[in-house]
Amino acid sequence: QKIEWKRLKDAPSETQDGITHLIAANIGTPQDLQAVLDNGGDGIGLFRSEFLYMDATDWPTEDDQFAAYQSVVAKMVEKPVVVRTMDIGGDKKLPYLKLPDEMNPFMGFRAIRISLQRTEVFRTQLRALLRASAFGNLWIMFPMIATLAELRAAKAVYYEERQRLIDEGQTVGEVKLGMMVEVPATAVMADQFAKEVDFMSIGTNDLIGYTMAADRTNEQVSYLYQPYNPAILRLIKQVIDACHHEGKVAAMCGEMAGDQIAVPLLVGMGLDEFSMSATSMLKTRALFRRLDSQKMARLVDRAIQAQTNEEVVQLVDDVVF
Ligand code: PEP
Ligand code: MG
Repeated sequence: QKIEWKRLKDAPSETQDGITHLIAANIGTPQDLQAVLDNGGDGIGLFRSEFLYMDATDWPTEDDQFAAYQSVVAKMVEKPVVVRTMDIGGDKKLPYLKLPDEMNPFMGFRAIRISLQRTEVFRTQLRALLRASAFGNLWIMFPMIATLAELRAAKAVYYEERQRLIDEGQTVGEVKLGMMVEVPATAVMADQFAKEVDFMSIGTNDLIGYTMAADRTNEQVSYLYQPYNPAILRLIKQVIDACHHEGKVAAMCGEMAGDQIAVPLLVGMGLDEFSMSATSMLKTRALFRRLDSQKMARLVDRAIQAQTNEEVVQLVDDVVF
């Protein structure tokens, strides 16, 4: 089977009926890039920029960040590279960022919430990204957006830095701006958010946890972490539909995007970009080639009317496997 997957390295990521989707990779550092190229990735759907901060003893400089982003976009040539701005907080700490202890770190001061408060740190990152955008196909997304006010504030800082660079005579590329959908409030309000971004990327790792109010690393409640629960499927479908209604790109970069039960459903919903660990990409491309998107759309109609997570697994199993 592995040998058959290898043959798909340069094949298009398309379904049996010829619908193309992007199969992209999640990476943590520029060193992860080789595996993406070896496994025929159509792009990078999530570049977790945290490593730049976590591997340092002080805030990384604009030039250090520029070098990292530039090397990745250049090596991917014209393929899209989605960089997520700093997602610190929750379980990710920085020795040089002293924050008070929190009762609920996952509901606390993290990601875009920090960036919007420490705007000098945010501006440095955005400038590095904008400069790197001249060397490839760079997209930027903001993590943990909860409200339109946050999205607008983040975009305003971005446009200020963009203008500043242009005024300084620096070259910047065409950047697509997007947000992650990890907070259930944004999935519910996806129709409004979709008007103000170029793309949305669903972060199912957090979205499932927040929607089910269950931490999958907590043994006592991990049974509630249900990716195929119709509640989750309805939220995901709503986000994809909202993006398409506005002519925007719908992506996913949580674990679910490379999950073999979820993929047929996501194909049925018309998800545009599936971003996963590099090692799952060829297997997913092989699965795509067996799926008919119309048939999967009908499967989705049944799945969102199901009552339980298990019932959905059974439905997919019966139709696909
Ligand atoms: C997610 O929440 O699904 C996601 C991709 O972000 P992370 O796993 O880095 O929290
Ligand atoms: Mg997340």
